[in-house]
Amino acid sequence: MTDTLPAEQAPALADFSSFNLHSILAQALAKNGFEKPTQVQQRAIPTILARQNLLVSAKTGSGKTLAFLLPTLHHLLVNANYYAGTRALVLVPTRELGQQIYLQCQQLLDGSPLKAGLITGGEDFKKQQTLLRRNTAVIIATPGRLLELLTLDVAPFENLETLILDEADRMLDMGFSEDVLTIAKHCSEQRQSLLFSATLTHAGVLKMADKLLKRFELIALNTLRDELPHIEQQIVLTDDTAHKQKVLAWLLENETYTKALVFSNSRLQASALCDPLRDKGLRAIVLHGEMDQKERQRVMKLFRDGVVNILVATDLAARGLDIKDINLVINFEVPRNGINYLHRIGRTGRSDETGLTITLVKHTEWNLMASIERFLRQNFIRRKIDELAGKFQGPKKLKASGKSVGGKTKVEAKKEKAPKIKVRHRDQKNIGKRRVPKAKEPEA
Ligand code: AMP
Repeated sequence: MTDTLPAEQAPALADFSSFNLHSILAQALAKNGFEKPTQVQQRAIPTILARQNLLVSAKTGSGKTLAFLLPTLHHLLVNANYYAGTRALVLVPTRELGQQIYLQCQQLLDGSPLKAGLITGGEDFKKQQTLLRRNTAVIIATPGRLLELLTLDVAPFENLETLILDEADRMLDMGFSEDVLTIAKHCSEQRQSLLFSATLTHAGVLKMADKLLKRFELIALNTLRDELPHIEQQIVLTDDTAHKQKVLAWLLENETYTKALVFSNSRLQASALCDPLRDKGLRAIVLHGEMDQKERQRVMKLFRDGVVNILVATDLAARGLDIKDINLVINFEVPRNGINYLHRIGRTGRSDETGLTITLVKHTEWNLMASIERFLRQNFIRRKIDELAGKFQGPKKLKASGKSVGGKTKVEAKKEKAPKIKVRHRDQKNIGKRRVPKAKEPEA
């Protein structure tokens, strides 16, 4: 199991019977000796049964295969339709993984009229073509071979109900990104999409989720420390924006780094931070979404070439930015949610280089910071800067969640007023512009 929730936080695991799965599946589970769901099954199955899109970080060995197969097959069995073409598609990076999932699928469908098929390279092309033409309910496939078949006359995924990407991070590392996106274009737009990845800190995985899932629930089963052991996560408590500015300048003058990235939640703040840093002789430049493409490219080149070594940016810059030697990331403000935090820190310590992330937190941001800690299941290291010690030392009393006891912070009060909506990455691309939706994240 990859799950590392402390025992007191871990929910009691129910029986498989609590999911009310179709009798064929219940029998298959009993026959194969599966009694209690694993953590990932416990958390993912209800969401998938509710037909939500889902992004899950879970490693091989966590029981992730049953976590997506059981609710997907349940849906197919309960809503029987034997002539609808392929109704569920599982994309996998390797033949071996495909074979494993195919066998598990067959075990579960034993005694049912639904058929599963496997499409991978190195096997008979014509037979696989037939699979696609014969209403095979579940197809498990590697992207390369499947795409070859799709370029022929068949259009088997017009009615697809569920698209699953398993080991998405590996699929991207193996260069399947474009193939996966092309295959997704062949799939019904009404489908449910599920993305399983060993890690959430792979920038490509979040990008893929943006494109394929759009609105989704998120289940993070790895701790941040599991995912990024080589990046230290610190927070510095601060009194107000002016205090933050002093701390920021101090850090940039005293830390050891090759390149630093400073994040601000707004374009205006990012612009305002840059000049005082330059006045101190620091080589800083700003990047935000209102700049035209040419200007952005110019800024990126200066940063990439090392002419400047500090980039002050809005979240926009966190997307797809792949620059070597960024070993310091400073969040001038606490990011709006855990996903944004992951996007930001994903810019440092790439390819196992070591890195440091420092988040400046003032009292109105405490609860937001605590919810990100809880979501990522990591306690950030509290750092004090003696030269710039502030008055705010954290809330006097804390709830079990790590949030402060007593009056609501401004951030929390604002959150309560806003309608709850799901994580929607497409919208988060507009961060720095006016309208910013709140992300709904499940409790860690
Ligand atoms: P996976 O992470 O899907 O590759 O699964 C790893 C192994 O755990 C496989 O051999 C599964 O058969 C097994 N497994 C999955 N779910 C359960 C469960 N609820 N109880 C016992 N074993 C399981």
